[in-house]
Amino acid sequence: MGPAGAVRTRRDELAANLRRVRERIAAACAAADRDPAEITLVAVTKTFPASDVRLLAELGVTDVGENRDQEAAGKAAECGDLPLTWHFVGQLQTNKARSVARYADVVHSVDRARLVTALSSAATRAGRSLRCLVQVSLDDRPGRGGAAPDEAPALADAIAASEGLELAGVMAVAPLGADPAPAFARLADVAERLRAAHPSATVISAGMSGDLEQAIACGATHVRIGTALLGGRGAIVR
Ligand SMILES: *Cc1c(COP(=O)(O)O)cnc(C)c1O
Repeated sequence: MGPAGAVRTRRDELAANLRRVRERIAAACAAADRDPAEITLVAVTKTFPASDVRLLAELGVTDVGENRDQEAAGKAAECGDLPLTWHFVGQLQTNKARSVARYADVVHSVDRARLVTALSSAATRAGRSLRCLVQVSLDDRPGRGGAAPDEAPALADAIAASEGLELAGVMAVAPLGADPAPAFARLADVAERLRAAHPSATVISAGMSGDLEQAIACGATHVRIGTALLGGRGAIVR
């Protein structure tokens, strides 16, 4: 042990990061004249161990996000004693639907009709109810997931009509290398159209470490924060 205060534990580091992220959320809410209580912080813990999830839960985090089924399933099992809400935020293959339906509470990445069908039968089979978000693509480049904005209403209707699924809202990732603000504004338009048909679909999942301020300015209710909370993920690009 060094002098008092010299030992900086992982818990201290996560606590400091969490404080900074909460300050950023508070400042963004103040600028947008919104109540910070409207914003759910989802800690995206991908690539980090279950011990970090446990520390974050001790520090008051209630919502955790993961983007790969295998990693998420293991961590959710290890943290089964914690009162956490688990969010699946990654691209999802239909053959992983059964596994995801066992531990996820919210699936952010519903972007095609076949996935709706797969999640519905998986949730029904597991005796669970899954909150689903329609992932909307905000760029014209395919491959990063997401339905085109004009496909979103039909997907939303399909989710709302499916046993075991509950339509909760929309999700998007800002386009790479472009100003996120106009993209998030387009997402807000899609969300508004969806709410006209489905008033309870109020979730707007948008904003990550680099753009949470712009997302909150455009109405985000859920921000998905990895790097700013947990640190860099090294050379692993995902
Ligand atoms: C990794 C990831 C995040 C978190 O990104 P950071 O920039 O590390 O905050 C958010 N959303 C999705 C879909 C992700 O895959």
